[in-house]
Amino acid sequence: MMVHIIGAGLAGLSAAVRLSDRGQSVVVHEAAAHGGGRCRSFYDETLERRIDNGNHMLLSGNMYAMAYLRAIGGLDTLYQPEQAAFPFLDLENGARWQIRPGFNALPGASLLDYLSILKLAWASENATIADVFDTTRPLFRNFWQPLCVSVLNTPVEVAAARLMWPVVKQTFGRGAAACRPGIAKLGLSESFIDPALAVLEKRGVRVHFNQRLRAINFAEKQAGALSFADDAEVALGADDTLILAVPAEAAATLVPDLNPPDKFRSIVNGHFLLPEHGEDNNFLGMVGGVSQWLFVRGDVASVTISAADDLVAKSAGDIAKILWAEVCTALQLGDAPVGRHRIIKEKRATIEQSPEQVRLRPATRTRWSNLLLAGDWTQSGLPATIEGAVRSGHLAADCVVRS
Ligand SMILES: Cc1cc2nc3c(=O)[nH]c(=O)nc-3n(C[C@H](O)[C@H](O)[C@H](O)COP(=O)(O)OP(=O)(O)OC[C@H]3O[C@@H](n4cnc5c(N)ncnc54)[C@H](O)[C@@H]3O)c2cc1C
Repeated sequence: MMVHIIGAGLAGLSAAVRLSDRGQSVVVHEAAAHGGGRCRSFYDETLERRIDNGNHMLLSGNMYAMAYLRAIGGLDTLYQPEQAAFPFLDLENGARWQIRPGFNALPGASLLDYLSILKLAWASENATIADVFDTTRPLFRNFWQPLCVSVLNTPVEVAAARLMWPVVKQTFGRGAAACRPGIAKLGLSESFIDPALAVLEKRGVRVHFNQRLRAINFAEKQAGALSFADDAEVALGADDTLILAVPAEAAATLVPDLNPPDKFRSIVNGHFLLPEHGEDNNFLGMVGGVSQWLFVRGDVASVTISAADDLVAKSAGDIAKILWAEVCTALQLGDAPVGRHRIIKEKRATIEQSPEQVRLRPATRTRWSNLLLAGDWTQSGLPATIEGAVRSGHLAADCVVRS
């Protein structure tokens, strides 16, 4: 009884780790030469530094991601400050403040502002974030909006309010201890991918890189065989299971009549070499400009903009100019000239998390008895994030274990 997992992103790897932990025979097939998918690090020739494809942040209340890190021995690779505190800068007027869970975080915000988050719990299926919050309030502009945009990677006028509620319950709903930020100290691969691959290797799980699944040959009620781009063919035995943990657009080409979410939102990341070593693990939320989050690792400052569909249309040079000016303000670098940099546009960073697209997320089980779906775009009950991807992998693994 073999489980074939297609895709070595977080969904595929979390399924593989969970199943192999239960003694299940597993083999992973990955199209790229490396694991991690959208959550990985690589050596950048321009910067001559190892960077992440995009900054990723977790919260300590992300229970599935934390369980995954614990299972692969990666928890220590995460920087988690003792305090749940989020420093912010207003790029319009230079004001700086810290958001801490509690009701005293932001001048001008009332108790009602904080309690407005509870409205997410009763949001209708079609309500957007902008429908639920009073968007004229300072706390919305200075905290809820940046938080919701970075979690849902969708503008607040379009983003599904209901999808934010499980996040709020997992984190703010459980107090300050569940709201501590978590950032990979060295890199995403070093935290989330390499330890998982090492655990799988130790357990004898084979991970085949450069093995793209080209087609699934379906029998009447079952997936019958796998055809790979290198012409390898794998017949699935009667007891074998297939977990398809590829992105939505790839799954749509492999599974007939799937109709998964088909709208995507971009994330832009700008990585800039600093004149000198910065303060490691320093991060900053920004409002009133283009940049949304800034992270410093060594002498590299990395800026993230979610739901960046307007920005993505600009040239890399224009984006660099805009972002570097904001990095200089944030890190008080004066008018330091822009040095070596790299702009990464992820045009399909996640699915659009609007009510209409969220309704298209498929369940783990399919009409083929041995085909399960995983991935941040499937119905995990959570947004398309690390947490959602890991949860989807666990859901698929648990279906295998149960059957
Ligand atoms: C720039 C950026 C910033 C982000 N920031 C955050 C953040 O701060 N916090 C957060 O929680 N989340 C963040 N996310 C989202 C998070 O990265 C994703 O939700 C998660 O990595 C998705 O994992 P996955 O396994 O579902 O998909 P993927 O990572 O896309 O993995 C799918 C894998 O399948 C492989 N594959 C595809 N087709 C085939 C095929 N035919 N055969 C074999 N293999 C195939 C791919 O190569 C890939 O390795 C961010 C994403 C991006 C892009």
